[in-house]
Amino acid sequence: MGKILFIFVDGLGLAPEGEHNPFSRASTPFLRKLLGGAFTLERVQEKNGLVLKALDARLGVEGIPQSATGQTALFTGVNAPALMNAHLHAWPTGQLVEILQGQNFLKKAKEEGFKVTFANAYTPLYFELVESGKRPHSATSWLTISAGIPFRTLQDLKMGKAVYWDIVHEYLVNYLKIPDIPKIEPEEAGRNLARLAEEHDLVLFETFLLDLAGHKKLPWSVEETLDLFDRFLSGVLESPSFTLVLSSDHGNVEDDSVKVHTANPVPLLAVGPLASLFSRCQAITDVAEAILEALRRPNDRG
Ligand SMILES: [Zn+2]
Repeated sequence: MGKILFIFVDGLGLAPEGEHNPFSRASTPFLRKLLGGAFTLERVQEKNGLVLKALDARLGVEGIPQSATGQTALFTGVNAPALMNAHLHAWPTGQLVEILQGQNFLKKAKEEGFKVTFANAYTPLYFELVESGKRPHSATSWLTISAGIPFRTLQDLKMGKAVYWDIVHEYLVNYLKIPDIPKIEPEEAGRNLARLAEEHDLVLFETFLLDLAGHKKLPWSVEETLDLFDRFLSGVLESPSFTLVLSSDHGNVEDDSVKVHTANPVPLLAVGPLASLFSRCQAITDVAEAILEALRRPNDRG
């Protein structure tokens, strides 16, 4: 059967090359070699083993796409902005949680007998904040809960069996001051994620590093963040037997003339033996079903 690694990158749009698109300036050697140039709208392409599409994230609803409705649409296939008649930001609540728990791709894959996991490592602090009502669950946490699979922990992270959302453990080491967690090179985090992908049918990983870069909330420049992400992807795709699928909920980092989300389309990047199955996706609502259909295919069908 097909093996899929889905990397959900919060806040990554696909825009033309230009002075306000940091992908035009960042080195990103791995992505440039893979795509034949910078990770911009000009690189949209479909060939054997590689698909890059620009997906609609606006979904017919006025305004700028946002996280709560965008992630619900991406993970379930339901046009959540149309249903709510708005693009809702931050974490999903109320009706969006019901939709997420009802029919997301992780839960469906688990119910169909596929071996699935969410690769992100969770801290005890996250659960304390949720239990004390200081923050709601993220969309990806609802996916994990509804699929009935365990959350990966800092112990898993130490053993290389999880990946942290910031890839290099900077937030754990310098902000949360978690002892015994060393920083890690992005390539090594990528290889750890690839190993999980080899061991499962479907792996989900979420990073909001690029969204924070777009909001100018990181201690590094946007270009440095994109290069870190590029090194991570080079580790992920060192010698894959799976198909990588990468997409987003809304634009942000690809336009540094603003600190807020953008109305740009988002990328759908598929790399690997099942990449061509993603070429018919047009909007973020098409991705969840395409992942499920890819899982059901034998791996040798390109
Ligand atoms: Zn978002």
